[in-house]
Amino acid sequence: MSYRIGHLAGFQIAIHYSWIFIFILILLILSTGYMPFNYPGLSAITYWIIGLIATIMLFASVLFHELCHSIVARRYGLPIARITLFFFGGVSEMTEEPQDPRIELKMAAAGPVSSLLLAAVFGIAYYSTSSLQMPPQINAPLEYGFWINTFLAGFNLLPGFPMDGGRILRASLWLWRKDLVGATKIAVRIGVWLAYLMIAIGILLTFVGLWPTGIWLVFIGFFLKSGAESSLRHTLVNKALLGISIEEIMTKDVKTIEPDISIDLFVNEYLLQYRHEVYPVLKDGKILGLASIQDAKQIPKDRWKTTSVKDITRPNEKIVMVRPDREAIDALMKMSKHDVGQVLVVVDGDLLGIVTHSDILQVVKAKTELNL
Ligand SMILES: [Zn+2]
Repeated sequence: MSYRIGHLAGFQIAIHYSWIFIFILILLILSTGYMPFNYPGLSAITYWIIGLIATIMLFASVLFHELCHSIVARRYGLPIARITLFFFGGVSEMTEEPQDPRIELKMAAAGPVSSLLLAAVFGIAYYSTSSLQMPPQINAPLEYGFWINTFLAGFNLLPGFPMDGGRILRASLWLWRKDLVGATKIAVRIGVWLAYLMIAIGILLTFVGLWPTGIWLVFIGFFLKSGAESSLRHTLVNKALLGISIEEIMTKDVKTIEPDISIDLFVNEYLLQYRHEVYPVLKDGKILGLASIQDAKQIPKDRWKTTSVKDITRPNEKIVMVRPDREAIDALMKMSKHDVGQVLVVVDGDLLGIVTHSDILQVVKAKTELNL
C-alpha cells in the first residue's frame, strides 16, 4: 500500500497511498483557511503557492524527523527496512526491537529533538525575514514551519505508545524497573487512552463544524489505537522468542514427497495421513519446491490419478529458507515479509526441518500464558 520514491542517507523512502489524500487536505486547509486568516489581503493564487510550499515543508519536516530516528537506530546496529510516510507522520520500519532501554531512549528522543531543532531554525529564519519586512510569500511558510515542527515535537512527545513519548516512557520504566513487558503494558494503556481521547475530541470538533481537523483526529485516534495494541503483541512475541533458535522449534522429521507420485497418492498417503499443511517435494535429496492442500485443490478430482505432484509443486523461488542456528524470531519475520506460512530449515541444500507459523505461535502462546 505504499510507493517507493527513492533513497536518502542510505534509507529507502516510501509514501503510503494515504499521503496523497492528506497532502490535498492540508493544501486545502492551508490555502483556503490558515493562510488567508493569518495573512489577509493576498490573491487566491498567492495563497495556493504559499499553501503548496508550506505543505511540502510539512512533508520534509516529517521526513527529517523520521530520518533522525533511523540514523540513531543505524548507529546502534538496528536495521531499518525503510521509512514510510503515513497520513499523519512517518514510520521507520525497524526489523528488530532495541534490546537495551538506553538505546530505545536515544532512538525515540531523536525524533522530537530533531523537530525542536527544525522549529528553532524556522523560528530564527522567520524572525529575521519578518524584521526585514520580507513579503508574505517568504514569511508565511517560515512561520508555518516553526509552528508545524513545534506541533510535531509536542504531539510526538505524548507519553503513549506508539508515539515517541510512549517509547521514551517505556524505555525509562524499563530501565528503572527492569521489566520490559510491564513497561510496555503501561505505555500501551496510556496510548490507547490517548487514542480514545483523540477520537472523542475529533467527533466533538466535527459536530461544531471544524470537520477537517475533526475527521483527521478521529483517523489518527484509530490508527494510534491499533498501533498501540500491535506494539504490545510485538513485544510479547519478541520476548517469548528471545534466545530460542530455529533448531529448537523446528519439526525435524519432515515428511517429504517425490515429484513423480500422483496427486491421488499425495492426498491419500500424505495429506489425510499426517495432516501437515505443506510437504517439501524432493528428488534425489534436492529440494524442488513445496506442495500443499491448496495446490492439490487446483486440480479437478477426476484428474488426480493422472496428474503428478510435480505439476502442482510451487517452485523453489517461492520457498523461504533459513539456517537452523538463526533465531526463531527471524523465521517469523521472514514469513511475514514473504507472506508465507512456513520456512524450510536448510544447510548447504540439505533439508533439516520445517517451521510453520502455527509452530511459532504455539511457543509464544505457551510462554506468554506461563509467564516465562
Ligand atoms: Zn518520531
